[in-house]
Amino acid sequence: MGVASALLFVLSFQTYAQEDAILLKRAEQLHRDMFSIDTHNDAIVKYTHPWRPDAGEHTQVTFSKMKEGGLDAALFAVFLSQGPRNQHAYDSVMAYTVKEIDFFKSYVAERSSEAGIAYRSSDFQRHKSQGKSIVMFALENGYGIGTDILNLERLYNLGVRAITLTHNYNNDVGDSSRDTIAEWHGLSPFGYKVVEEMNRLGMIVDVSHTSTETLYDCLEHSRAPIMASHSSVRAIKDIARNLTDDEIVAITSKGGLIQVATGRWCLSDLPREQVDISVFCDHVDHVRNLVGADHVGIGTDFDGGGGMVGFEDVSKMKYITVELLRRGWPEEDIRKFWGENFLRVLREVERISRQINH
Ligand SMILES: [Zn+2]
Repeated sequence: MGVASALLFVLSFQTYAQEDAILLKRAEQLHRDMFSIDTHNDAIVKYTHPWRPDAGEHTQVTFSKMKEGGLDAALFAVFLSQGPRNQHAYDSVMAYTVKEIDFFKSYVAERSSEAGIAYRSSDFQRHKSQGKSIVMFALENGYGIGTDILNLERLYNLGVRAITLTHNYNNDVGDSSRDTIAEWHGLSPFGYKVVEEMNRLGMIVDVSHTSTETLYDCLEHSRAPIMASHSSVRAIKDIARNLTDDEIVAITSKGGLIQVATGRWCLSDLPREQVDISVFCDHVDHVRNLVGADHVGIGTDFDGGGGMVGFEDVSKMKYITVELLRRGWPEEDIRKFWGENFLRVLREVERISRQINH
């Protein structure tokens, strides 16, 4: 490199860094003003099982990291790995869920100046105005419902407001995208009742991980909008776990949400070190171009496989806003992406629940 080109390199690098600093300032201001939520993490287990090697300081989600990243709230899911499908297993998985949620509630209660739990849409603004990190409970895997419809009210009473109906295997609610056979060809007869009961109680039906047939059955049967809490775009990365354009259009034409996941494996075939925030934002832009800014958000899947280069934990959330600003997103759309869309859907789910119950 000659002196002149070296100088040019240094100058352009400086301009880039200056531009970055300006964008970061704008992003930080936005995060102070707007409401932001990540609709999926699996962090709870790291707190309830602190001896795990990936717990403690390695946890991707902590309240102080949320503050640093400018993230107000998250759906904290109790993840249920699937075991046998019999009554004994269902009893013990329900007992496990109760224990996990109770433990995390005490953890939050011991830090009541730092964090709070949201049980309804109106709780978010109250906690944000007090500067608290906000927890809303979710359940990942309808396996936890077993075959007892009354478990849904038990889960609701614990604070669970969204349920991912399946994980990687079919269960008694419906079929998964990753199982090798179609057992029910969508929702099971019990699964239809589950969707109805979730509508009645005011819980969000989450179709991440479900098979296409299950997804369409939910859409057809649910009176309220549904959500894919952590799913990326199949047109960019072709795996069964990601959503096709048809699925994205179907979910959103009924008012629902596509919350893009951040794990490298669901974003790109590129080597690990090349999968960064820009690759993630390509998925987000794809959804926005297809169905508009009213239906896209983020479900990081942190502590469950989420994260990429430059986005190692929840303290990096604001850098997504930097990238969206760099891509020319208006602030209005950024606010929708981070929280307004989710609040709209949750309020609608609550409204339909009140309508059913009166
Ligand atoms: Zn998942």
